[in-house]
Amino acid sequence: MAVDGSTGDTETVLQQLEWAITEAHQTPEKYALWDGEKDESESRLTDWDIENDLRQAADRGELSMFYQPQQDLASGEISGAEALIRWRNGNRGYVRPDIFIPIAERSALIEEVTRWTLHTVLREMEALPNLPQISINLSVQVLQQGIVEDLRSALSLWSVDPARVVLEVTESAVISNLEQAVDALRELRALGVGLSIDDFGTGYSTMTYLRQLPATELKIDRSFVDNMLHFSMDEHIVKSLIHMARGAGLRTVAEGVENEETRQRLQQLGCDVIQGYHLARPMPLEDCRRWLEDRQWT
Ligand code: C2E
Ligand code: CA
Ligand code: CA
Repeated sequence: MAVDGSTGDTETVLQQLEWAITEAHQTPEKYALWDGEKDESESRLTDWDIENDLRQAADRGELSMFYQPQQDLASGEISGAEALIRWRNGNRGYVRPDIFIPIAERSALIEEVTRWTLHTVLREMEALPNLPQISINLSVQVLQQGIVEDLRSALSLWSVDPARVVLEVTESAVISNLEQAVDALRELRALGVGLSIDDFGTGYSTMTYLRQLPATELKIDRSFVDNMLHFSMDEHIVKSLIHMARGAGLRTVAEGVENEETRQRLQQLGCDVIQGYHLARPMPLEDCRRWLEDRQWT
């Protein structure tokens, strides 16, 4: 892996590094070079270009799912994994989900992407038999009647126990479409799947809103977890979010845990589950399967 960070600020260099690690992960040589041109070609792309290419991505086999494990802090066991979509286009390499998902969300394309994701993850779960749960991200735009049928038929087609599936929905998105979202979320919950409120703490998380959501889990946003060892305010926020979740009978998952000190502090604060680079990066299915197997033997 090589990154040319000579012209960028720290944030840009970190993004390039993240890109290179993901790209290197996919090559047999485990090597990827950020050549600077990618940056320019990516910024020249219009939403329209991306939408057009994305439309054909699934048929061309350019989409895949990566899996990032989660650990239960009390038992030390791996309690689940989050499924994260990856798109590798022939011309431009990896396109980050935070670039193409918002574009898909602005058109009906998000429904196709979601259906592809549901079927791929539920099918691939067969290769991860010892993984208790899988979390799947859902965009709020798909929270309409159709999604309930899509999930029901995918669960039955791939014979997956709904108790092994958790759906993640971003807090701010749900709140802005509350009425429509709540109905669909209730029906999805009725299928027996879990429901996680993602990026929790970044929106208007009041108990009034929360009470209306049939949630089973709160996912504390990475921005608080990142800074909690350095800023006492962030630690207070994390502590209150855990406390609030407990009071509502919800499980807490902290995302973006990058070091042992943060893991220990979260454990002291009563957090249930962690996810982040400290435990493992998102991995392709086969790597995740091997990672889980290796852990069982050690
Ligand atoms: P998210 O749901 O908040 O996903 C967590 C993001 O944090 C992932 O980025 C993951 O790779 C990254 N991450 C995990 N651990 C760490 C860590 O320790 N440190 C740092 N700095 N980052 C960490 P990713 O995969 O780029 O996904 C970005 C966003 O795209 C996701 O944010 C999610 O909102 C969306 N997304 C990803 N896959 C899907 C999908 O299948 N469907 C939908 N609708 N959205 C998706
Ligand atoms: Ca998520
Ligand atoms: Ca998140």
